[in-house]
Amino acid sequence: MYFFARKYIAGPTLNDAIRVTKELNGNGMMTTIDVLGEFITTKAAAQKAFEMGEQVLKAIHDNQLNANLSVKPTSLGMGIDPAVGYPHIRKLVELAAGYNNFVRLDMENSPYTSMTIELFQKLRQEFPGQVGIVLQAYLHRTQNDLNALATQKLNIRLCKGIYQESADIAYKDREQIRENYKNLLNYALKNQVDVGIATHDDVLIDDALQLIRQLGLSKDKYEFQMLLGVRQHKRDEIVAAGHRLRVYVPFGQDWYGYSLRRLKENPQMAWHITRSLFTRKS
Ligand SMILES: Cc1cc2nc3c(=O)[nH]c(=O)nc-3n(C[C@H](O)[C@H](O)[C@H](O)COP(=O)(O)OP(=O)(O)OC[C@H]3O[C@@H](n4cnc5c(N)ncnc54)[C@H](O)[C@@H]3O)c2cc1C
Repeated sequence: MYFFARKYIAGPTLNDAIRVTKELNGNGMMTTIDVLGEFITTKAAAQKAFEMGEQVLKAIHDNQLNANLSVKPTSLGMGIDPAVGYPHIRKLVELAAGYNNFVRLDMENSPYTSMTIELFQKLRQEFPGQVGIVLQAYLHRTQNDLNALATQKLNIRLCKGIYQESADIAYKDREQIRENYKNLLNYALKNQVDVGIATHDDVLIDDALQLIRQLGLSKDKYEFQMLLGVRQHKRDEIVAAGHRLRVYVPFGQDWYGYSLRRLKENPQMAWHITRSLFTRKS
């Protein structure tokens, strides 16, 4: 598993994430740093995840990195009890605001969608511009969520969605997911939403580039986002064309859980990973 995972993960320590961010910043890319931590069941573990988040924000500031923080609400205790998770997340956003930085709430599987949106709404009132959310194009509900959220200043990461969801609530067909992604992006960009276009899919990247041209958008209204270790050539191409791009940089001891989850939830990933090991190019 280590062999599979290491390309996608900066390493076990915060210093690894800093090193990788410095390299990427040197190549004209921003990052968002994620502390790997899964299956939090105790308050102590949530507290530890919070402390790691604090350290990341401080390290970004001290090292003058062009980076922000991504967090999974459950890893900070929202799955145990919002009374445990909320103060942690609020404090991280407050700290980020003090550093003039930003926290992205990653979107987890569907039992947590509404909770994460509510959490975001609350934080955005208190810290506008300092917190963002993720929306998943595979969920039927997402257009409604976007309509409701876009009535105020909004910053989203738009992705397809990585979890296994039921056909009752999610599109399963690749083309349907793409169509929904295109519609959501169109709506967001036409409604002054700041968007992180998080995909490695050429069809969606080309569609986004066309839309950006058509709308004559300024570069601060959008950025592309990709996972560490995935499609570096495409990444370089987008940056060379003058667009902003942010790389998702996970680090932590818990890389085994992270990798195993990604492989289980999307077995195709195994193929991608294996392929990129042999071709050295994706
Ligand atoms: C920055 C970022 C943050 C994300 N945050 C979330 C989140 O908060 N919640 C969530 O549910 N999902 C998240 N995701 C995952 C996302 O939902 C998708 O599951 C994932 O990005 C794959 O979808 P895709 O759009 O890249 O299209 P795909 O169709 O999966 O991939 C398009 C092409 O990219 C290449 N590719 C994709 N993956 C790999 C790989 N591992 N190795 C080599 N080549 C590859 C292949 O050529 C493939 O054909 C995030 C993704 C990114 C990029």
